[in-house]
Amino acid sequence: STQTVILDNSGIRRALTRISHEILEKNKGLADVVLVGIQSGGAYIAREISLCMEIIEGERVPVGSIDITLYRDDFKQQAPHKSVGKTDISFSLEGKRVVLVDDVLFTGRTIRAALDALMDHGRPCCIQLAVLIDRGHRELPIRADFVGRNVPTSLKENVAVSFDDQQQPVEVVLEK
Ligand code: 5GP
Ligand code: MG
Repeated sequence: STQTVILDNSGIRRALTRISHEILEKNKGLADVVLVGIQSGGAYIAREISLCMEIIEGERVPVGSIDITLYRDDFKQQAPHKSVGKTDISFSLEGKRVVLVDDVLFTGRTIRAALDALMDHGRPCCIQLAVLIDRGHRELPIRADFVGRNVPTSLKENVAVSFDDQQQPVEVVLEK
């Protein structure tokens, strides 16, 4: 198997800084913006984005997380069924500009399930999607508003996003 580094630590940092600027630009600042990361990688990335946004704007945006569990029984199917697990959103989404965050976007089924779960938490003004890596192979009409890096992959490949013991992203590697 071969491993190709797609983003090193500073590459990730630059991508998340750019995404933070793009989120602020699209939403004309951080008023009413909240971040919701998908456990676990997406939640770590959401926290990094919130720190970036705080450095840029001097104010903190609320960060929540949502857990979409992949049923193991269905793991080998081409279209895995996903269920909603633990959600940790300690604020109302009513009227908010919700930015959903994940580490890797693949078929889009996780995002579909997350959208469903978010709707149970009030009625957001809008929902946008930020991902560190878009690896293609969408099976649903879902696309990201903010993308760190588009990585064309084969179905056999895996995108490994590693985090250190403080849950900070370290590097992104394409494994063939
Ligand atoms: P989807 O539901 O879009 O098929 O898959 C996205 C979810 O599965 C994300 O939460 C992501 O963490 C995980 N995922 C899918 N493909 C990969 C991959 O190649 N690498 C990593 N690290 N996660 C992936
Ligand atoms: Mg995930």
